[in-house]
Amino acid sequence: MTILALSDKSLFKTQAYINGQWVDAYNGATFNVTDPATGKVIAEVADLGVAQTRQAIESAQLAMQSWKRQTAKERSNTLRKWFELIMDNQEDLSIIMTAEQGKVIAESRGEVAYGASFIEWFAEEGKRIYGDVIPNTTADRRSIVIKQPIGVVAAITPWNFPNAMITRKAAPALVTGCAIVLKPAAETPLSALAIAELADRAGIPAGLFNVITGLNAPDIGNELTSNPIVKKFTFTGSTPVGKMLMEQCARTVKRTSMELGGNAPVIVFDDADIDKSVAGAIGTKFRNAGQTCICANRLIVQDTIYDEFVAKLTAKVSEFRIGNGFDSNTTIGPLISEKAADKVDSLVMDAKTKGAIATTGGDKDKAGANYYQATVLSNVTEDMRIFKEEIFGPVAPVFKFSTEEQAIEMANDTEFGLASYIFTENMSRTWRVAEAIEYGMVGVNEVAISSEIIPFGGVKESGQGREGSKYGLDDYLEIKYICIGDL
Ligand code: NAP
Repeated sequence: MTILALSDKSLFKTQAYINGQWVDAYNGATFNVTDPATGKVIAEVADLGVAQTRQAIESAQLAMQSWKRQTAKERSNTLRKWFELIMDNQEDLSIIMTAEQGKVIAESRGEVAYGASFIEWFAEEGKRIYGDVIPNTTADRRSIVIKQPIGVVAAITPWNFPNAMITRKAAPALVTGCAIVLKPAAETPLSALAIAELADRAGIPAGLFNVITGLNAPDIGNELTSNPIVKKFTFTGSTPVGKMLMEQCARTVKRTSMELGGNAPVIVFDDADIDKSVAGAIGTKFRNAGQTCICANRLIVQDTIYDEFVAKLTAKVSEFRIGNGFDSNTTIGPLISEKAADKVDSLVMDAKTKGAIATTGGDKDKAGANYYQATVLSNVTEDMRIFKEEIFGPVAPVFKFSTEEQAIEMANDTEFGLASYIFTENMSRTWRVAEAIEYGMVGVNEVAISSEIIPFGGVKESGQGREGSKYGLDDYLEIKYICIGDL
């Protein structure tokens, strides 16, 4: 087993975390976590099932009874400590992340800071959850609105952001007075467990933040979505799994929020600064080896600048260095698994068979089974699978359009609606296109659109609800109307 070079070895946890206790599975079962860069086992983690998931839900319910009675300021102070401890341990958390997820270490450092920023933000914002007094229609009444914690929250998160996808759910849940039971992806449980250790050190009371590790996602997920104690279910992951979990939640009418798949267009008009749009396309396409939900999936470029754009993009992309994320020369790490690399390859093969040309890359990489070459595809058309399916790999297909109307139509020709990007120097066009495209987020001449202060989320089959920003609190609160009469 590979031993990670951590300054604080006690951040390396392999037991699950329930009610403030580190626990093994009842039957002692474990599963392996492997480093996608080397295929080597880095941990054997407790493989829990339904009974322990239920136990965590019940302890969460008990723990939140006193937590919700604390003042907003008290809860805020505790969360602030958690934020500080995460930042104090940024390097160790980054090492754990790169070891289990594969992203280059600089990106892991960025994600740890990004993840922590949600805790800092919500610790502050939690002090500003206001109610209302509504001017009445009758003189002898007063109508008041208060906001209360929704109840026990259950969460399931993916492997591509093993820290931030957790904190942007846990922080608003905790600061509003709720407790949370989390199942992280089986590929990346170590980041979740490390931040649980820091939650404990920050003084977050036992039972408020629980981490259920396990391989049996369908059974654990079924308990989280059907147990009547759980009042809200929040999911980040693929659209097909999200749809199924929403159906399961309907049986007990749980509030749901869903952060699902994307098919982001980057529309480049001929009035744009081409160098900036090439840099932007690279910034949004290749982060985390193309494995983010807001990664460009389709570059849609105006015909008059198409050849120049493809040439400049190809020149830059061919400079990427593929390798182990711990190597400081590496700019693209491995994909999460061989299966993921095979899926990317099948999309590229389909496109090539139908006439696409790989101007750089276009194949699996010699670095190993999980690696894919940084690729640019030109001559791509809408009949290719890559136009409709989420690539989740370092492949940039460049489509061609001639008119603004056609660009909008192509951008909207998908069931997804998460992130989108436009490059243009024309202000009227900016407004027209930003309003016409069906996406939850639009970046104009900018691709670094995510942060704790903005409402992150999608429309159509990319999900519902928003994470981060003041809007990110709403999903964890119930509105209660109180009528005082006979005054
Ligand atoms: P996934 O297969 O849907 O898995 C996500 C989570 O769901 C994992 O924890 C997984 O557990 C669990 N899961 C899988 N099948 C389940 C089931 N039948 N019942 C209950 N839980 C189940 O997605 P992924 O491949 O890990 O993540 C990539 C997807 O997430 C992409 O589509 C990406 O766009 C999306 N994503 C969206 C956002 C956003 O904010 N919109 C952010 C990041 C990622 P196991 O790992 O144990 O199988």
